[in-house]
Amino acid sequence: MGALDSRFAEALRRIESQGQLRTLRATAMGTGGRLRRDGRELLDFSSNDYLGLSQHPLLAERSAAYAAQFGAGAGASRLVTGTSEAHLALEARIAAFKGTEAALLFASGWQANAAVIPALLKAAPGAAVFTDRLVHASLHHGCAAAGAREIRFRHNDLDDLEALLAAKGAAAPARIIVTESVFSMDGDCADLPRLAEIARRHDAFLFVDEAHATGVLGPGGAGLAAAAPGGVDLAMGTFSKAMGGFGAYVAGSRLLCDYLVNACGGFIYSTAPPPAVLGAIDAALDLVPAMDAERAQLATLADRLRSGLAQLGIDTAESRTQIVPAVVGDAARAVDLSRKLAERGLLAAAIRPPTVPPGTSRLRLALRATLAPGDVDRLIEALRDCL
Ligand SMILES: *Cc1c(COP(=O)(O)O)cnc(C)c1O
Repeated sequence: MGALDSRFAEALRRIESQGQLRTLRATAMGTGGRLRRDGRELLDFSSNDYLGLSQHPLLAERSAAYAAQFGAGAGASRLVTGTSEAHLALEARIAAFKGTEAALLFASGWQANAAVIPALLKAAPGAAVFTDRLVHASLHHGCAAAGAREIRFRHNDLDDLEALLAAKGAAAPARIIVTESVFSMDGDCADLPRLAEIARRHDAFLFVDEAHATGVLGPGGAGLAAAAPGGVDLAMGTFSKAMGGFGAYVAGSRLLCDYLVNACGGFIYSTAPPPAVLGAIDAALDLVPAMDAERAQLATLADRLRSGLAQLGIDTAESRTQIVPAVVGDAARAVDLSRKLAERGLLAAAIRPPTVPPGTSRLRLALRATLAPGDVDRLIEALRDCL
């Protein structure tokens, strides 16, 4: 028996007694928003594959072609021998897509957030870090790893942010504001032009996580940072959601990227992304800028879903995007609803604390451009039956 086994078992019992035990289940991704789980076909309202690109032949083909040409692995970290022409060319493409001077690839969005914030704090020791209360776990992790003083402002409440900047920011040696352009559990957006203006006035560095905006919102799907030209100091995003593949980016000035290459442990001490990953990203960058019709379809489907839920009296918070929370409050109720929908062939994941605040358990409904309006109607009808 391992030295910590009794503690692991006790922790699992505690988690289970709170009704929060999580387990992994095999799912076969399919096309058109259908997937298979437990031998059953389910209409998928849970994945982040907003444009359906994870199953697009061009991504799979180019991924395979890159692997066939360059091999399965990068062989080393970027600063040793892991930087290929393909890495540099792709980073230049990402910078052009984002409208920034430079960009860097990371293994994943989680890794980028967890590693970049400590690197920022290394340049500005003692900086006050202002985080929206609902930012992703990876961002809180980055702050914790940096030993940063995290000052949380009320979700999307920029008056609260300003008050905190005035009260606690002025005396700090530097200020960093961390937020998301589209919030992953609420589907609402940050006001980036106003945030950029606040950051400028308070001499703060603005860090924006575009995980759920990349590919979906902004000109050509480049994200919402484009709405505040020059006002976002660092935009990060992932290639694992709307972009259909894997990996992540950090985009900003050449100076920032040069600094991260020299100071960001998660970049320096991690093996470079492999060729197959680069191929899928490259193909996604070919497709995504021209997918305005798919982006419009997503917006139309989301409006249809929000109005259908409103008619059922279900709260959708401030959702304005392809992510639509159906907030039911109680965790057990959300789980029960999710189970009943699965029995009707609909996959809608229940999200409970600690992922969301207590009392705001929900079905997190995520749309995809390959769904038809009738698919959304089917979900609304099924919810009507279940309630
Ligand atoms: C998914 C997500 C990440 C992590 O990205 P991965 O590439 O999946 O590791 C980071 N931030 C937000 C807001 C996310 O939703």
